[in-house]
Amino acid sequence: MITRTIPAVQAKAPQEPRSAPAGDWQRQLREAIRQPRDLLAAVGLDARWLAGAQLGHEAFEVRVPHAFMARMRHADPNDPLLRQVLPLAAEGEPVTGFVSDPLEEADHTPAAGLIHKYAARVLMITSGACAINCRYCFRRHFPYAEHTPSRAQWYDTLDYLRGDDTLREAILSGGDPLLSSDARLAWLAQALGEIPHLKRLRLHTRLPVVIPDRVDDALLEWLAASRLQKVMVLHINHPAEIDAAVVQACARLKSAGVTLLNQSVLLKGVNDAATTLAALSERLFEAGVLPYYLHVLDPVAGASHFDVPDERARLLVEALRAELPGFLLPRLVREVPGKPAKTPL
Ligand SMILES: *Cc1c(COP(=O)(O)O)cnc(C)c1O
Ligand code: SF4
Repeated sequence: MITRTIPAVQAKAPQEPRSAPAGDWQRQLREAIRQPRDLLAAVGLDARWLAGAQLGHEAFEVRVPHAFMARMRHADPNDPLLRQVLPLAAEGEPVTGFVSDPLEEADHTPAAGLIHKYAARVLMITSGACAINCRYCFRRHFPYAEHTPSRAQWYDTLDYLRGDDTLREAILSGGDPLLSSDARLAWLAQALGEIPHLKRLRLHTRLPVVIPDRVDDALLEWLAASRLQKVMVLHINHPAEIDAAVVQACARLKSAGVTLLNQSVLLKGVNDAATTLAALSERLFEAGVLPYYLHVLDPVAGASHFDVPDERARLLVEALRAELPGFLLPRLVREVPGKPAKTPL
């Protein structure tokens, strides 16, 4: 499948600076698929899918890095990785209860890009963009979706963190925080490390999964240098997302002292089978990652075709419990606006 992309890569290569290494993640990001017709061509699906895909794309643009696309089965509209990124006509159908800001996060922002809802930890929107656009994501309606905070905004955020000595953990989220440059992230990690009451730095990211080359020397360097304990929560929904390059990226992160966890979203047609979820947990652990959360879908407009009813979600997790050791069982949770923590189902 990936061979289709090689001519484009070669055509652009002469414009790259000489120093760009072959695995340069920023180049891979620039070359991500951004048009429905390119995605369909790359996976070998015909024009029957185009009208629906185009409609969804206009609301929330298609974005799929080649490294992720290469793990999809060819010519299979039900491929679980493709389902996560291909807009379907169903996105356009309004469904009662599926809204644009299901988490009501607009109410908890003491500084721009800062969300302080839970005790002892704050979530910082480090980069509004993502390397991949997942169709089920609440980001599809976020007004500041592509916004990245300026240094001046970071000073406000750091002041807030310094001033609240109940805080133990800073969570870099987004969007995807690893879309920020390593220079910016190293600066931020340093500044956070200087706040004495902080113990942990957590990153919520999908980049090591969708572009494993993001885990490069520059990233490992600032992670290893921080005095804070590092936790990375990956986002993987299906075992087929974990190829050899992802396994290697995880090993490198662990070598820099990072504890690896995973969160998944329970998605109809992607991972709503006990065998799939069990295989995911097994595969995660082989890569050195512990399952953390299994989220039920946020009721976001345009994503209702991924919804799995609560009763079925509970049965799936019961089946998993009978199958797996306790440490490979993710916690089934929902995010309820106004609650002080994720709510177990
Ligand atoms: C999910 C979330 C966290 C982290 O919650 P944990 O249960 O510690 O993983 C923190 N802040 C916000 C706003 C969140 O949504
Ligand atoms: S925030 Fe996560 S789920 Fe949403 S589009 Fe980005 S990577 Fe996908």
